[in-house]
Amino acid sequence: MKTYTYQMKTGIVRTKEFERKCLATHGVNVGLKCGHDCTYCSTPTMIRAHKAFKQLNISAFDNGYALVAPDTPQRVAHDSKHIKNRGMIQLCTISDAWSPEAQKYDLGRKCLEAVLSKPGWTVRILTKNAAVENDFDIISKYRDRVLLGLSITATPDKTNIISITEPNASPIPERLQVMQKAKTSGFRTYAMLCPLLPGIADSPDQIDELVKKAADFGAEEIFAEAVNPRGRGLILTQQALENAGFHNEAKTVETIRSQVNWSSYVAKLIRNLQQSVRKYSDINKLRFLLYPKGLTTNDLTEIKNDDAGVIWL
Ligand code: SF4
Repeated sequence: MKTYTYQMKTGIVRTKEFERKCLATHGVNVGLKCGHDCTYCSTPTMIRAHKAFKQLNISAFDNGYALVAPDTPQRVAHDSKHIKNRGMIQLCTISDAWSPEAQKYDLGRKCLEAVLSKPGWTVRILTKNAAVENDFDIISKYRDRVLLGLSITATPDKTNIISITEPNASPIPERLQVMQKAKTSGFRTYAMLCPLLPGIADSPDQIDELVKKAADFGAEEIFAEAVNPRGRGLILTQQALENAGFHNEAKTVETIRSQVNWSSYVAKLIRNLQQSVRKYSDINKLRFLLYPKGLTTNDLTEIKNDDAGVIWL
């Protein structure tokens, strides 16, 4: 994988969107293109017009490269000291501070140190990389001010399929091991079940298993989300699955490219999650992030009949 470096201007940024999602008041990002290379990643759609891509003569939608900002910790250190209204920072919102290229510059660790050495800040870590375990010593030091979540996007038996859709992220069993270790270390944890792809991670049994695991590692909150239908994520996911020989799964992903089917998948996902969380955890912990645009009137009405745990965006 080719790695480009780029000097970004932002350190800690206020984020109203992530506040609405009940995730964080502020965000930090260590780059513009994450080397985990998930096929469904929505970051390229969001930042495709960023001038970095023009300057480097690359497209946000190309694969096989990462774009990282090695000097992020300096900007974060400056902001963590000077921002007066402090809150919860999500590390990261559009990249991953433990992706392979971020690890090369030790960005996760350095950003954690830069933030947590100043009072008043808490950090929500979101990563798909087990390398976060290397920084457990810092998390341990500030354990009351850190919430740890590794995205769990499928049950362990689907590891081979997830290695196609999330080619450079840690395998699911490794992520689960780190979450379990976090629990035994007495850390605060939350679950991030996102995205739960159709035909791969959305059946009632699969969701039961994921929710039980979240309860096992003591998740304070259980976030979940459907795959984002915007941009090229669905078609890239379908193609990658098809090329790898997962024809049934590719077909199911293709199915939800139609709005009616996407809406039905989302409505069922919500019901399955509510059912599992009520059974194995606490419905007050569920945070299903829902953009209602794209839902059919029937599904919208049906979801509104019981929207426990739904965060309307
Ligand atoms: S880990 Fe997150 S930011 Fe990185 S490629 Fe995957 S979805 Fe995108």
